[in-house]
Amino acid sequence: MKVVVVGGGITGVSVAEWLRRDGHDVTIVDRVHPGDVTQSSYGNCGIVGRNSVVPVSTPGLFLQAPGMLRNPDTLLFLRWRYLPQLIPWLVRFLWNGRREKVYQIAKDLSSLVQDSNEQHFALAAGTAAERFLQRGTYVTLFRAREEFARNTFSNELRKKHGAVWEEWDRMAIDAYDPAISGAYIFATAMRDYVFVTSPSKYVTALADHFRQSGGNILCNEAVDIRQLKQSKAVVELTDGRRLETDRVVLAAGVWSGRFASRLGHQAAMESERGYHLMLRGASHMPPAVLNVPDTGLGVCPMEEGLCFGGAVDFGGVDGVPNERVFDAIRRQIRRVYPDLTWEGETKWMGQRPSTIDSLPLLGPSPKAPSIYFAFGGQHIGLTMGPRIGRTVADLISGKQTDINISPYRVNRFD
Ligand SMILES: Cc1cc2nc3c(=O)[nH]c(=O)nc-3n(C[C@H](O)[C@H](O)[C@H](O)COP(=O)(O)OP(=O)(O)OC[C@H]3O[C@@H](n4cnc5c(N)ncnc54)[C@H](O)[C@@H]3O)c2cc1C
Repeated sequence: MKVVVVGGGITGVSVAEWLRRDGHDVTIVDRVHPGDVTQSSYGNCGIVGRNSVVPVSTPGLFLQAPGMLRNPDTLLFLRWRYLPQLIPWLVRFLWNGRREKVYQIAKDLSSLVQDSNEQHFALAAGTAAERFLQRGTYVTLFRAREEFARNTFSNELRKKHGAVWEEWDRMAIDAYDPAISGAYIFATAMRDYVFVTSPSKYVTALADHFRQSGGNILCNEAVDIRQLKQSKAVVELTDGRRLETDRVVLAAGVWSGRFASRLGHQAAMESERGYHLMLRGASHMPPAVLNVPDTGLGVCPMEEGLCFGGAVDFGGVDGVPNERVFDAIRRQIRRVYPDLTWEGETKWMGQRPSTIDSLPLLGPSPKAPSIYFAFGGQHIGLTMGPRIGRTVADLISGKQTDINISPYRVNRFD
């Protein structure tokens, strides 16, 4: 079958590569090259979060959010002029944070993340991308044991879905990384985690392998995607070309919503903008990624330097970055590593594709059956990319999927 995949981030490249392995004639269409700085897949924290089953919207967020917005150090930001546009999405997002709904979301996320280590290795095996997958311990730092214990709801939910952690005191933290500020006296440590040491190079290497193995990559912008008769579909490009094909996969990250609504579906999607500061020539590197909830940041040793990434900023798709976020990240660096020095820094903002129920949209459109959706990875799109890729490829190839895809059906918000 001929398949065109629109979008060459981690999701699109994963779908394309699994389809190619299934013997299809596959073309990725993207306005940029895979691994480009404008992709969300470029500058994320590189965590393969196999226990990331707790969505951002949880009970109580509704009450906490106003206080968080007043304190820039919590790294939650909002462009107030954007609020009227955001409200319909935000209300439904917060409503999905009620207890019984979160239990269900966690179960549905679990199916997509629990084997993510294996999915990444299966995708990258035998390719140049494999060298970017590093095994390590995922350490989360707290200023007091009580700070950790307060999150009973999230902790219990993670445990229910298989998370196992050790509890460390300051002595154990010192043995792991003595440069961490003495203010952190308690930590959880999850063994056998996988981290991507350069998300951008990882996606590039996967795309290079796809091309070298017979896949096609077309650097162009899709302007329309439509169903045609006789189970065909068409992708129209900015230069007027029309790519007629058997199947189209819409994997355009946060930009997928526009195409979905033209096909008659609600994607219920918003950009949760995230940021990083990449420090070059940092005087210290942790052994593996640190999660520091009170700073809102992941501290990630990468090939390019030491990356401090995170934050949530509601400012609309493609709006200019908010410089206040970078200032806040700079302040937080000192809280984790008081003595850190560095030679230079690179600023980056990316767009997390987030739906109101924190679940992706996967599978064929009932209104355009030759067009498949594969987007909505929110905070864990790197984690889920290879799993989404394999599942969508299985659907197109007519194979039995090994997970139930009904929670992710594409018309659930219509
Ligand atoms: C600061 C930050 C930290 C993060 N940390 C993690 C983490 O540690 N672990 C994790 O699992 N996730 C993390 N994420 C989330 C993760 O990065 C995203 O969910 C994921 O990268 C989304 O991938 P994608 O392929 O769906 O979208 P993208 O990578 O954004 O790719 C979409 C592609 O579609 C293309 N496109 C759009 N419109 C068109 C068009 N009309 N024509 C052609 N091409 C088009 C774009 O050019 C782009 O290349 C983080 C995100 C941020 C911002």
